[in-house]
Amino acid sequence: MIKIAFVASEAIPYAKTGGLADVAGTLPKVLEKLGCEVKLFIPKYFTIDESKFNLKYNWNIGEIPIMVAGHIRSVHVLQSKLPGSNVEVNFIDCPHYFHRAHFYTNDIDEDERFILFSKAVIVALQHFNWRPDIIHCNDWQTGLIPLLLKDNYSWDNLFKNTSTIFTIHNIGYQGKFSKETLTKAQINERYFYPMGPVEFYNDVSFMKAGISFADIITTVSRTYAREILTPDYGAGMENILLQRKEDLYGIINGVDYTMWNPETDKQIPFNYTLNSLSEKAKNKEYLLKQFGMPFKKETPLIGIVSRIVEQKGFDIFAEVINSLLNLNAQWIVLGSGEDKFEDLIRWLVNHYPEKVGAHIMFSDILSHLIEAGSDMFLMPSRYEPCGLNQIYSLKYGTVPIVRNTGGLADTVRDWHYSELSYDNRGTGFSFDSFTGNALLDTVKRAIKTFGDKTTWRRIQTNGMNKNFSWEPSAQEYIKLYKYVIGK
Ligand code: ADP
Repeated sequence: MIKIAFVASEAIPYAKTGGLADVAGTLPKVLEKLGCEVKLFIPKYFTIDESKFNLKYNWNIGEIPIMVAGHIRSVHVLQSKLPGSNVEVNFIDCPHYFHRAHFYTNDIDEDERFILFSKAVIVALQHFNWRPDIIHCNDWQTGLIPLLLKDNYSWDNLFKNTSTIFTIHNIGYQGKFSKETLTKAQINERYFYPMGPVEFYNDVSFMKAGISFADIITTVSRTYAREILTPDYGAGMENILLQRKEDLYGIINGVDYTMWNPETDKQIPFNYTLNSLSEKAKNKEYLLKQFGMPFKKETPLIGIVSRIVEQKGFDIFAEVINSLLNLNAQWIVLGSGEDKFEDLIRWLVNHYPEKVGAHIMFSDILSHLIEAGSDMFLMPSRYEPCGLNQIYSLKYGTVPIVRNTGGLADTVRDWHYSELSYDNRGTGFSFDSFTGNALLDTVKRAIKTFGDKTTWRRIQTNGMNKNFSWEPSAQEYIKLYKYVIGK
């Protein structure tokens, strides 16, 4: 039985800002189902409700002293089971670092927070005397673990046969800090030199450390795995990734269809299937009412649920916003992020209340309702490692309009392209060039096609019949685990 310590900075149902949480709260369960033993590690943020999730203090471990930035911090481990599974969840509890207003901060000790987390995970494993075959790290917050294991904790035989996997969920967030971070983390200075394994433009990058020291690197789609080897998408990491190209794999994220299925979704008022799409229209009516907008059956409703940041394509959206508003469509936006884009959206809602609705916030229930009630779903991302909402959209018969990049390219097939290839297996609409005009043209194409009910139904059917469940992807991870264990 493969033993995996799965380490992430967020996981559903406890703490979520984006797709990483969906992955970290789901993949461990599926791995367990497939016969692995998994322990999940996340920080115990202030907002994680101890009684709601039945967190128990681990008295056997008690207090663990962890040294960060020259101070000994006291850490405790709280434990629970990932709902619907036997996966043990370990919450690294250190109020000094994790009782903050947000999971991620711009505070001057942001590096210390995740140094502490990374060290505490390793020390907790020592206290458990549990010998993982794999420590599966995710994104920069856990990037130091492979290095710490190979150097600072290499004395411990417990980890003699432990391999590390580092999964990149977004290369744009690199955990960059000044050189002092090395001292704070007690990392050997010999790793810090120009182009060296932790040095990144004179700073220390936790992500680069992860890429340099992990035995295997993965990212969350095949296309993104290719893209990040290029300067346009590598965000400066392309060279170190090229050095490690042989060890880099792309595995698409799956979806938890127990949560994201219109037939059973408990968060939407009207459940539906391919054979009862009239119920979907009721969700649309309900959704529009929630946003104080008029219901027009024949006018397509385009949904957006996203972090409202440049990565997600809001600049090209803004570029052609006037033309988009002239189209016969209504828009609903859910999300928060950069001020300039939030301001634009608020302005649109104020000036076009019948056409545009928005909630600038994070809301799980609204995200489900928007998936269920919209006719189309827009994701014009500059880059998209995997993207989950387009996959949810497929299952909800909500036709995705996406830029052809990363996981979007791997999961959505353009309808007109599929017509040209005589297979008619298109599931959405996509465009290549990252420009406002390409976005506008593609939205126009989608709206025009929406008018042709037979074709629209065909596209919805193609999408709803797609299956992106976790099992095949989890199998691919297991194959990699076995490969690296045998190496
Ligand atoms: P990323 O991780 O880059 O933000 P993904 O598409 O991989 O993008 O995952 C985003 C996840 O976060 C999806 O599950 C999506 O539904 C959810 N999400 C994003 N913004 C919001 C929001 N404002 N409210 C609720 N859920 C959101």
